[in-house]
Amino acid sequence: MNESTYLKVGEKCERCGTERVEITHATLQKMQELRPNIRSIPYSIVNEGRDLYAICPSCDAYALGADLVQPFPFKDKFGSIKTIREY
Ligand SMILES: [Zn+2]
Repeated sequence: MNESTYLKVGEKCERCGTERVEITHATLQKMQELRPNIRSIPYSIVNEGRDLYAICPSCDAYALGADLVQPFPFKDKFGSIKTIREY
C-alpha cells in the first residue's frame, strides 16, 4: 500500500471491506509502544506524523488492543468514541 491508496475514515478497507475509524496521534504512539504490526496504515504515513489517522478496525484489531484489558479508543465515522471490544 502507498500513500495514494491510503483511505479516509468511513471509507471501506480495500482488504476486508470494513469502514475505517479514526485514531489520534497520541493513541498511535501508545499503540506503537507495544510494537504491533500495523497493517492498514502505510509506514510513510505513520512517519509523516499526522494529527489523525484512519485505521481499519478489522485488519488492525490487535494493534487496537483487542486482547488488552484497556483497548485503545477510536472514533467511528459518526464521531462516537469506541474501542475494538464494542465494535
Ligand atoms: Zn481491513
